[in-house]
Amino acid sequence: MNTALLLSLGLAVLCCFRKFKFKKILSGAVKVFSSSSGKTYYVDPVQLSCSCSDWKKCRAGFSQDDPRRLCKHLINSCVGQDKIPTSLSLYDEALHRFYDNGWEIPADEVIKKVDSPQGEIAYFKDCEDDVWYNVCFQGKRYGWLKEQNCWCECTPENVKDVLYRAINGVPDD
Ligand SMILES: [Zn+2]
Repeated sequence: MNTALLLSLGLAVLCCFRKFKFKKILSGAVKVFSSSSGKTYYVDPVQLSCSCSDWKKCRAGFSQDDPRRLCKHLINSCVGQDKIPTSLSLYDEALHRFYDNGWEIPADEVIKKVDSPQGEIAYFKDCEDDVWYNVCFQGKRYGWLKEQNCWCECTPENVKDVLYRAINGVPDD
C-alpha cells in the first residue's frame, strides 16, 4: 500500500469519526450563546452535559442524580425553563433558589444523603463559608443552622421532626 492511499484512508476514517461525533453532540444538545463569555456552548438537558470548561473539568464526574453535575448553562436550561429532570426532583426547590439568586452550585461542596421512612433527604451548604445548609426533602428545601440545630421559620413542625431524626441519627420511637 502506498503512502497516498494510506493517507486518504486515514482521512476518510477521521471524517467519519468527526461526523459521528458531531451528530452525537447535536442529538440532544441545544446550542446556547453565553453573553457573559461571548462563547457558544452545547447544552444537553437530557444527558445533563455541557461543552463548557466548568462542566468538563469539575462536573462531568458527578452522576445524573447529583446537582453538582449542573454548570450554570445547565441550570439555565433545566431550572430556568422548568424542566428539572426526575433524577434531580429531590432538589427541585433548592435548584430554583440557586437559579433565582444567580448562584452556582459549588462543585467542591459535600452532599450528604440519609434515608428516612418518608423518603430520601439530602443536605449541603450554600457555599463553603456559609453556616446555612440546604436540606432537601420531597422536592422542598429547608434552611438549617447545623451548629444550633435551628430551622428556618417556614419549616413545619412535623417536617422538622422527620429531618431532625434523620440528620442527627435519632432512631424512630
Ligand atoms: Zn456549561
